[in-house]
Amino acid sequence: MLIIGSHVSFTSKEQLLGSTVQSLEYGSNAFMFYTGAPQNTSRSKLSIAKTKEAITLMSENGISLENVIVHAPYIINLANNKEKDKYEFSIRFLIEEINRCEELGVKYLVLHPGSHVGLGIELGIQNIIHALNKVNKNNHSIIILLETMAGKGSEIGSNFEELKTIIDGIEEKEKIGICFDTCHLNDSGYNIKEFDKILEEFDQLIGMSYLHCIHINDSKNIIGAKKDRHENLGYGTIGFETLLNVIYNPKTENIPKILETPWIGEKAPYKEEIIMIKTKKFNNKLKEIDK
Ligand code: FE
Ligand code: FE
Ligand code: ZN
Repeated sequence: MLIIGSHVSFTSKEQLLGSTVQSLEYGSNAFMFYTGAPQNTSRSKLSIAKTKEAITLMSENGISLENVIVHAPYIINLANNKEKDKYEFSIRFLIEEINRCEELGVKYLVLHPGSHVGLGIELGIQNIIHALNKVNKNNHSIIILLETMAGKGSEIGSNFEELKTIIDGIEEKEKIGICFDTCHLNDSGYNIKEFDKILEEFDQLIGMSYLHCIHINDSKNIIGAKKDRHENLGYGTIGFETLLNVIYNPKTENIPKILETPWIGEKAPYKEEIIMIKTKKFNNKLKEIDK
């Protein structure tokens, strides 16, 4: 079964219920959200009543909580420990995020591995491993999904080797996994047109059982550009047919696919893009939806 959805909002008022309503409007059976603004750490208290209502609405509409994903905010950087207080803050905030996931009943938390900001890849990776092991000392049942990164600046995790080194250092392997991002893979130098080859390489190095989510985005930039600028499906350098092949690849059938494509003017493109995916037909008027 196709498991498809998008990034949705999570407001302090409507919380998980609002995210679920939005997802259903888009025709989704999966979704991802930030528990607050991605660029800051102010988070409101979770309402048990809203969560319960949301979970009821999900089960009435065939959305499994297994396919609901939280994305940790960008300000968490586990790779750099030059400033001790910032590093410790990142660890503390990640622990709080994990607690919020547990309160919401969400199992997967997507995390950008981090940027070493001059420390070098090796030290950066050691910092990430140390931080994640510390976070996992807190009893929890969340699986942290390291996202494949574009390789912008000093980002760690733009190739499978780096991600493997991190996973190798994690003591509790059942608490770690991977989230692909097609735009990031393209920008870091992987050819999405040969997605089966990518999966094979990933399986040999890390293992398919670690892959739990795929972000579906086209890219504004050419392969290997190390930029990270998402584009709407079929409007970028990856192309619609190539993305369809990722979405409908039998090896990724049970993995939720999440759109993080840019808004068109004032409008989210997800409803239209999900129609494109379900009908397997490119919509060349997509960029006109806000008019
Ligand atoms: Fe991300
Ligand atoms: Fe992503
Ligand atoms: Zn991105």
